[in-house]
Amino acid sequence: MPDLRFVSRSSSLWNEDRPHILVVACSDGRLQLAVDEFLDTNLGVTSYDRLLLPGGPGALAASGVEHVRANAHKNEMKFLLDVHEIEEVILLFHGPALGGPDLALCADYARALGTRDREKVMAAQREDFAELKKYFESHTAIKLQAYRAQVDADHRVEFVEMDVPKTVFTV
Ligand SMILES: [Zn+2]
Repeated sequence: MPDLRFVSRSSSLWNEDRPHILVVACSDGRLQLAVDEFLDTNLGVTSYDRLLLPGGPGALAASGVEHVRANAHKNEMKFLLDVHEIEEVILLFHGPALGGPDLALCADYARALGTRDREKVMAAQREDFAELKKYFESHTAIKLQAYRAQVDADHRVEFVEMDVPKTVFTV
């Protein structure tokens, strides 16, 4: 063993039981406290596996263009789903609420779409959710939930359920 310098020892114990819940969220650390509060208070989730990527669930979906990146991340997620015996997945998208600050926009969506237009980002997030919902339904028996964390004008974060875009059927 290499002689590594000791730094500290935790008072918390390692938990040998796996939580069987995976939260997929953006790496954006500005949301961390609000997200943990939401998961604990509203969903009763205090212990969970996490997949934190720029764009959050968006990194698993193609947004119409990024197929190679989406497939690579989907493979990483599939590994977690299988090996950690995940039974439930919570997808968390994010952005500004109506009247919320522009700076709350997901930087990764702005990059991928080449725009900071919040309507376009929101539309892309709903498309991505539709793609992921289909993926989970056809590849897994996992319970799926999806929310959007939206920063309002007071910098509070509201959580709304994601929905899929209305499909227009033509005959
Ligand atoms: Zn983000």
